[in-house]
Amino acid sequence: VVARIGGDKFVILLDYADDIHEAIHIASCIKASLRLPFSIQGRVIRTSASIGILFNNNTYNSSDHLLRDVDIALYRAKAEGRDRYEIFGAEMFQMTLKRVNLENDLHGAIAQQQFVTHYQPIYTLPGQRLVGFEALVRWQKPDHGLIMPLEFIDLAEETGLIVAITYQVIEQVCQAIQQWQTDHLIADRFRVAINILGQSFRDDEFLPMLDQSLEKVGLSPQRLTLEITERILLEQSTSILETLTSIKARGMRLSIDDFGTGYSSLKYLSRFPVDILKIDKSFVNEMQQNGQGIVRAIIDLAQNLGMITVAEGVEYPWQMQQLVELGCQVAQGYLFSKPLPFEAATQLMRSGTKGVF
Ligand code: C2E
Ligand code: CA
Ligand code: CA
Repeated sequence: VVARIGGDKFVILLDYADDIHEAIHIASCIKASLRLPFSIQGRVIRTSASIGILFNNNTYNSSDHLLRDVDIALYRAKAEGRDRYEIFGAEMFQMTLKRVNLENDLHGAIAQQQFVTHYQPIYTLPGQRLVGFEALVRWQKPDHGLIMPLEFIDLAEETGLIVAITYQVIEQVCQAIQQWQTDHLIADRFRVAINILGQSFRDDEFLPMLDQSLEKVGLSPQRLTLEITERILLEQSTSILETLTSIKARGMRLSIDDFGTGYSSLKYLSRFPVDILKIDKSFVNEMQQNGQGIVRAIIDLAQNLGMITVAEGVEYPWQMQQLVELGCQVAQGYLFSKPLPFEAATQLMRSGTKGVF
């Protein structure tokens, strides 16, 4: 039986097959025949298929469950790079279950405002004057302690939940800055950098919400730097350009995070109003073994385009020394301080110390 169950989704039932090899053989044949180019109205079209395979050893008693599991295998095939087949296994179901649970937990965490913002100090080089913080989110899950962003940010982005999380971070950051301002702990040029992923950036409500959070506590937009990735610039849609321009018009700074690790485009970099390039910690790490080439190139590029460079992940004095020699003006990293909870960040400013060396 062959059935079409969605736009480009088909199900083939092989009711004669008594082992999985029969299904694999058919899948290979389908892939091989689709690989040949089609000619439609004089144009050559190439296509491919991602295939999920499920062998029913009579453990299923509902066709819904059969279709659910073969769909999981199909999505795995797509995720693994398309034009391939994947066979459903119990571990796939476990992984999907874990993701579904995590997604549910994230929904709950957003509703119950379980996210807290930590602040990593950012210092000028070579003077080590505190010029700002980077806001980094953590999930304070009851009975689990602090969960780091690497464990949930990707899924939050895939599911769009990142938008709501970003709003909570922005609110917390605005309140924190307002508090520090009231306590006369920060100078005029002190800024906090917030990480903004593409999803949030594309959201129509993003700018109005940002304005609202600032207004609520009477804060100038100049207190904020937004860290975005190169990928956002590559989209080069007019709405992205409008958002970037509005952000600049408000006096916020724009920073490119993890610069050089993705698809960098010099053309877009000079076209968009970027203020800061962040040198990824992988480049800072490599300076000893692979030389200073990339770091030097990023700093030179930034200088030529009138941008500032911020080095991330500085852990050793020799790294700081080399960065100073290369002309990097600003840095953050464990050498100076780990990201700190609000109270500890406040304490750091009160005590006026430069951090840990
Ligand atoms: P990122 O923006 O590149 O942030 C820097 C990461 O490096 C942070 O990890 C920070 O704790 C860590 N780090 C700082 N100094 C050092 C160092 O000297 N050595 C090493 N090994 N690591 C250092 P974290 O907090 O786990 O955040 C991971 C990533 O999650 C961030 O990478 C960022 O992409 C994302 N993220 C964090 N908070 C937010 C947020 O509020 N919103 C969004 N959209 N993404 C966030
Ligand atoms: Ca960042
Ligand atoms: Ca980074």
